[in-house]
Amino acid sequence: MNFGWISIAICCCCILLMCKPSNAAELSFNSPRLHRPRAYSPTENFEGQRKQMVEYQLRARGIKDKRVLAAMSKIPRDQFVDPSWRDLAYCDRPLPIGHNQTISQPYIVAYMSSVARISPSDRVLEIGTGCGYQTAVLGELAKEVYSVEIIPQLADRGRKILSKLDYKNIEVKTGDGYQGWTEHAPYDAIIVTAAPEHIPQSLIDQLAVNGTKVIPLGTWYQQIYVLTKTPDGMVKEKTIPVRFVPMRRKLL
Ligand code: SAH
Repeated sequence: MNFGWISIAICCCCILLMCKPSNAAELSFNSPRLHRPRAYSPTENFEGQRKQMVEYQLRARGIKDKRVLAAMSKIPRDQFVDPSWRDLAYCDRPLPIGHNQTISQPYIVAYMSSVARISPSDRVLEIGTGCGYQTAVLGELAKEVYSVEIIPQLADRGRKILSKLDYKNIEVKTGDGYQGWTEHAPYDAIIVTAAPEHIPQSLIDQLAVNGTKVIPLGTWYQQIYVLTKTPDGMVKEKTIPVRFVPMRRKLL
């Protein structure tokens, strides 16, 4: 076999790999390059799709937290995505939300919300509002939610949709979440939805004792870490592999 055939074989393998549908529960393929302009039909049965998402993507894969399942059964995920992607709003994958960012796969949102063990009296900090979908889930679970987004246009959009859906317990701020949001600290839970290489110290400082932090860590290979702050220090648990957009350091 000469080099020409070897290159063709490699290309074919790559194409096959790229076309393979995502059925891995653990992986969030947050590729911002996806492009699929298609008008949705206003008659689409989003409620039915939402029920199926909860049954087959969440409950069937081991998400047991009843409050998380109830929140995701209720929140209209279709309202958080661009109209051209709306027909795919309940699919088992992340979707583009503009500015090279994505809305996470439903399973990942449910997983992060469950392992954060949020109670109704909690104050929660989220880093990376994006389109605001995870923020809304947190808004259903906690008493107060503070969310920081570094891209001003996304922060504005998130704010608008969350206020349209009447979430009065959520505040969104434009800024670098690496610094957290000192004004409302300490937080009972902190959820980070963009991946830094190391855990920002400010986010450890702003976590309450007995509080839980859920954060994807790493560059290309990332894993979700669940950290609990005890009186004696941080207890760190490495959990599932994921792909999140990297955490940025500069206000755009
Ligand atoms: N929570 C979203 C996921 C958004 S993707 C969901 O529900 O699907 C990650 C988001 O983190 C992007 O919107 C990105 O702009 C934001 N981000 C990246 N670095 C950040 C930083 N340093 N501070 C705040 N937000 C950041």
